[in-house]
Amino acid sequence: MEVIYRSTRNANETATASEAILKGLAGEGGLFVPDQIPALDVSFDDLAKMSYQEVAYAVMKLMFTDFTEEELKYCINSAYDSKFDTELIAPMAKHSGRYFLELFHGKTIAFKDMALSILPYLLTTSAKKNGVKNEIVILTATSGDTGKAALAGFADVPGTRIAVFYPKSGVSPIQEKQMVTERGKNTFVAGITGNFDDAQTGVKKMFQDEELAKFLDENGFQFSSANSINIGRLVPQIVYYVYAYTRLIADGTIKNGDKINVVVPTGNFGNILAAYYASLMGLPVNRFICASNDNKVLYDFFTTGKYDRNREFILTTSPSMDILISSNLERLIYRIAGNDAAKNAELMKQLNETGSYEITADMKKELDAFYGNYATEAEVSAEIKRIYDEDGYILDTHTAVASAVYGKYVAETGDDTPSVIASTASPYKFTRSVMTSIDADYEKKGDFELVDELERLSGVKVPQAIEDIRSAEVLHKTVCDKEDMEKVVKNFLGV
Ligand SMILES: *Cc1c(COP(=O)(O)O)cnc(C)c1O
Repeated sequence: MEVIYRSTRNANETATASEAILKGLAGEGGLFVPDQIPALDVSFDDLAKMSYQEVAYAVMKLMFTDFTEEELKYCINSAYDSKFDTELIAPMAKHSGRYFLELFHGKTIAFKDMALSILPYLLTTSAKKNGVKNEIVILTATSGDTGKAALAGFADVPGTRIAVFYPKSGVSPIQEKQMVTERGKNTFVAGITGNFDDAQTGVKKMFQDEELAKFLDENGFQFSSANSINIGRLVPQIVYYVYAYTRLIADGTIKNGDKINVVVPTGNFGNILAAYYASLMGLPVNRFICASNDNKVLYDFFTTGKYDRNREFILTTSPSMDILISSNLERLIYRIAGNDAAKNAELMKQLNETGSYEITADMKKELDAFYGNYATEAEVSAEIKRIYDEDGYILDTHTAVASAVYGKYVAETGDDTPSVIASTASPYKFTRSVMTSIDADYEKKGDFELVDELERLSGVKVPQAIEDIRSAEVLHKTVCDKEDMEKVVKNFLGV
């Protein structure tokens, strides 16, 4: 059955999967959502015998129905190969009685690799299928991890260029170094003097600018998005929740049909939404535990039904979750509004104009499966130290937010359902915060001394991604105001 994608803000705007991937964002700021979510047609017991790539095909063929088997397998096999440092692609680790789904074994050691290693193939295949002649320009705002993962995914992919904007003082030193040393000839990186929301708003503005689109088209370019609003990012993320479930079956933790909880450190709401979509495809999920840091907009939303971004933006040690507008939440709002584009558009208009909206009691009832909570900076640090002391496993700051929130959930509910914690980054990506959580004295050491010390403590070899930047040259030096983003993009394209 063909799955059609519809805009969350206009019931009449539809697209095939490949068209939606190409466009990224629908018109009027809407997001593309599938008009139906097909049930998995392979049993979990059979999926448990499959490789990651085979599970990926079983999931994606149901959602990307206008791709041929050959096209989809080409995309999957090109993405999930030896770029990952383990054949399992997303291994499950058990520590301190918890299951950590390690999503950081790709090129840039953060979970965004899971989707961004396949997106360039989905996108160039979509372009071919739709007779696109223009060069595709990926425009991305990043709170840190998307940027490098997108750069790595698109670097030197023919027919594409990529421009990345990050908040100049809102990412970790290693995240920044990873981006500004990118060597791909089709890449551009700029820091902006603002926060992530400024970067994201600037990018969205360019996407929605029809005059700019026309101007680019005349010059042989068109924009597309690698941000987590692209369904080409979202759908590949469904895969690892299904895969995680099959790992728990394979090791005897659960039987086919048993429920699990998923715990997700959340920023833009893409990762946890993928878990929710997985459940709509038949994955037995009891609770979706949405973990926030001090920027706890989502915690407030799940407890009160009111989304309110009017608050101070707090820089934390988990920068990839420092977000006040969780773009992908719109897809959930649309769904609990009964797939009503007009109703959703009205709420998003309120968000745009006043910075807040409130859902109805009926809509809130639909959110029973979600549990929100948050961890303070002190709690995150304490969690890293606690797990390290207990069994020598070292969490990154984002995963520690999730682990700490999971602790609160269990204390509050007593729920002992097996729970999978999405482990979204390698501790090597946030070495300083991680190491000073273990011992404040590490503050005095240099970044790469800490890297070596982390290797000693954890027994986990320094990843190639970190070795690569030890001595790499800074190639991208642009810093601009948020008002000048369009200008620097045009400059990059030479138009
Ligand atoms: C992006 C990111 C998150 C947040 O994921 P969303 O899909 O935006 O909710 C969490 N942790 C890390 C390490 C990330 O890079």
